[in-house]
Amino acid sequence: SIAYLNGAFLPLEAARISPLDRGFLFGDGIYEVIPYYNRKPVGFAPHMQRMINGLAALEIKCNKSVEEWRDLLDTLISQNEGDNFGVYVHVSRGADTKRFHAYPDNVEPTIFAFAFSIKEPEPVDRAKVHPYTVSSTQDLRWKRCNIKSTALLGNVMHFQQGYAAGNNEILLYNERNELTEGSSCNAFIVKDGVVVTPIEDNQILPGITRRIIIDSLKADGSIKVEERTVTMDEVRSADEIWITSSSKEIAPVVKLDGNPVGNGEVGPVWEAAFRIYTERKFDF
Ligand code: PLP
Repeated sequence: SIAYLNGAFLPLEAARISPLDRGFLFGDGIYEVIPYYNRKPVGFAPHMQRMINGLAALEIKCNKSVEEWRDLLDTLISQNEGDNFGVYVHVSRGADTKRFHAYPDNVEPTIFAFAFSIKEPEPVDRAKVHPYTVSSTQDLRWKRCNIKSTALLGNVMHFQQGYAAGNNEILLYNERNELTEGSSCNAFIVKDGVVVTPIEDNQILPGITRRIIIDSLKADGSIKVEERTVTMDEVRSADEIWITSSSKEIAPVVKLDGNPVGNGEVGPVWEAAFRIYTERKFDF
């Protein structure tokens, strides 16, 4: 596939960065993944605004606006084949001449992007969707999970815990036994028809899919949705659990730590919410 690196479009295999790049040495960078279905992005502006916010938090001087990102990534996708893909965008602080923790003054950020193919959306049908099974564990990541940092080792180690246990995600909870999110996704529960998800704070990534779901459900009005603290006791007695991300959209979870979620089948609120989301997702 064709990638973008520091002003040039080139074959992905030909892209090269310095081993002194602070993205490589320190995980000192910000990234995004934007989903495209039939070559149309979902949540382009909020994704890139989150990236701009993350770069500002790290004082990385990359001054591209949402519109400039749009032009750059439109050019990237015009050079790649396929209908459904994720576009990975990564800005690291750049390569210094030495390895020193303090932010260097005169470095150019490294800007990298490439497109990878993703599956088409799951069917909006409880009987046909591929459900997830998840583990759970205490969240041992850092206290700035709202920053979409390329330093993902905490997430990777948690994901691996779930994966090694035979699951395809892992739910995380803080020391107060409150749900935070998944290792690479946000989390929702449903109880008595009400959809509930943890608030946006430093314990979770402010997911764009999460936002689109909340805003779509509120605009539709037929399903009640709440943002508030969610305890693991609530998660374990929920009727439904969903995990959400740009690549998963809304994925239903049917098993938590080996126990069935609700009656162990994909729930009706998932189907109703996924229909509403699917009808509205390109509006964001
Ligand atoms: N939480 C974490 C830790 C993530 O890595 C992701 C991204 O995939 C999400 C949540 C979901 O965010 P988004 O919906 O913007 O993809």
